[in-house]
Amino acid sequence: MTAQLIDGKAIAAQLKAELSEKISEKMTAGHRRPGLAVILVGADPASGIYVKNKRESCEQIGIQSFFYALPDNIEESELLKLITDLNQDTQVDGILIQLPLPHHIHASKILEHIDPRKDVDGFHPYNIGRLAQRRPLLRPCTPYGIMLLLNHIGQRFKGCHAVVVGASNIVGRPMSLELLIAGSTVTVCHRFTHDLPYFVRQADILVSAVGKPGLIHSEWIKPGATVIDVGITRLADGTITGDIEFAGAKERAAWITPVPGGVGPMTVAVLMRNTLVAAGYYDHHH
Ligand code: NAD
Repeated sequence: MTAQLIDGKAIAAQLKAELSEKISEKMTAGHRRPGLAVILVGADPASGIYVKNKRESCEQIGIQSFFYALPDNIEESELLKLITDLNQDTQVDGILIQLPLPHHIHASKILEHIDPRKDVDGFHPYNIGRLAQRRPLLRPCTPYGIMLLLNHIGQRFKGCHAVVVGASNIVGRPMSLELLIAGSTVTVCHRFTHDLPYFVRQADILVSAVGKPGLIHSEWIKPGATVIDVGITRLADGTITGDIEFAGAKERAAWITPVPGGVGPMTVAVLMRNTLVAAGYYDHHH
């Protein structure tokens, strides 16, 4: 079997076009333009690229972006003050802080200071708690983007074993909660898992979010599985690769995401969607 590719780039473009149309409609009806504040601390090149993509997407679909580029040595108190101001700013519907933050800043303290209603990354404990109680409001972008991809291909969830590799707060953990809500039986593997192949071989739906190229051997893929590769690693020659041995996995899976062009574009599209949710564009969020 040769897997069909899940074209995240095209699906994200479609979602963004829908959002853009929605914004036009609302503005015609007298709504103000939605606004997203994007905060970048320091000069990490990868973070710089992510932030640029996010701002360009805002511009493309008609969200106003407010950009704050702050020095590496900024005091935690100054950053908290900025967030307090943005929490109160009526032009700003969403606040995004690009991670990682410098070590002298407590990321969790910063994230918890964001008004949960403006938490478009969905990382605030309130929003994670809502997701854990299966009443999600603002949902973490990458896992929700993956759910949209899975829905797009007509993935079945109930009765399926979903295996998530990676258990971070931003991808693996919320991913497991999304799959649980959808009705799958969920296993989460991480760095202390003893026999990774044992679990991966059982996966009807496999999501790998680790950042180690070649971690998932293609012969572990269950024939007919749906395979989602979240990993992003830049190799010495400049190419980007995921966690999964793609060429071999493609010969076993039914569906597979490419890297790049799979999950990545969906993350940004969902961030845009979350900004509209935060702006009150949707009456009910779930
Ligand atoms: P992280 O470093 O916070 O977490 C990695 C997880 O992998 C941890 O839970 C760890 O226990 C687990 N792990 C490490 N080694 C392992 C092993 N040998 N076997 C099994 N599990 C192992 O990373 P993260 O922030 O969750 O990101 C994961 C990857 O996804 C990175 O490559 C990142 O660049 C990428 N990412 C992509 C997107 C996207 O939009 N496509 C978004 C976020 C992150």
